[in-house]
Amino acid sequence: MKYFFNNLLHLFIFLSINTLFSKPLVLVSIPPQKEFVKRIAKDKVEVSVLLGEGASPHSYEPSPKKIVEISKARIWFTTGVEFERALLDKVKNISSDIIIFDTTRGVKYRTLEEHSDEDEEEHKGKTLDPHIWLGYESVKVQLKNILDGLVSVLPEEKTHFERNYNDYISEIDSVFKKLGKKLLPYRGKVVFVYHPAFGYFFDVFGIKQKAVEVNGKEPSQKDIVRVINEAKKENVRVIFVQKQFSKVAAEKIAQAIGGKVVQIDPLAENWLSNIEYMGNELAKALE
Ligand SMILES: [Zn+2]
Repeated sequence: MKYFFNNLLHLFIFLSINTLFSKPLVLVSIPPQKEFVKRIAKDKVEVSVLLGEGASPHSYEPSPKKIVEISKARIWFTTGVEFERALLDKVKNISSDIIIFDTTRGVKYRTLEEHSDEDEEEHKGKTLDPHIWLGYESVKVQLKNILDGLVSVLPEEKTHFERNYNDYISEIDSVFKKLGKKLLPYRGKVVFVYHPAFGYFFDVFGIKQKAVEVNGKEPSQKDIVRVINEAKKENVRVIFVQKQFSKVAAEKIAQAIGGKVVQIDPLAENWLSNIEYMGNELAKALE
């Protein structure tokens, strides 16, 4: 009898541990995608973000801990950032049954603004702007793809996921509607940005970005002088800098033009409140 209870207890422990770890692990590339998945799946999945705090999506290598997580993940939602390409084969090697789900399907890409760098001549071709997670329409397309991907992993949760998805979409709509009213007087304005990550966001409000950063490098003294002259010419008073990049140069420029440096994290995990914050800061700076 005692033996039986012992076995039962073991069975019970085994089952509880199993339920504890039975949530599918979802892999995302960058922090904002964690909110996207969480808002649709709520607590039905675990989410792991590949890109750690402060790392650049233009160059990234997974840590040994992340490699273990990759091996356990059921699905990876890619978003077209640079490091994914180098990681693709590695992930397929680590896990043969992981679903690699492209959330950029159907996203309408914008092209990156050309910058007037006189030292360069190979700016003929248009480059697609990869920063699609800071948009409105582009994010809605990604969310629909994430919804489809989550339903493919947990089909029994379809109605639940669709309801959460619809709630999230209406919240996003109302935030953009509010910001649209607030930013309406500033259509056509030019805002300097350190790294050109804000094109999709600014497009919604008819605001133009001009990148201070030159080809992902620190601007030289010559670049700074050029930017100051351009800013003065165009009467630009706002510079967006991201915390992932040095802001020394941006501060120098802001000082010279009597403008404002706004620190923004384009990769913040709390995506929707970050969008609201960016819009409000933008309105304040343009006032
Ligand atoms: Zn970037």
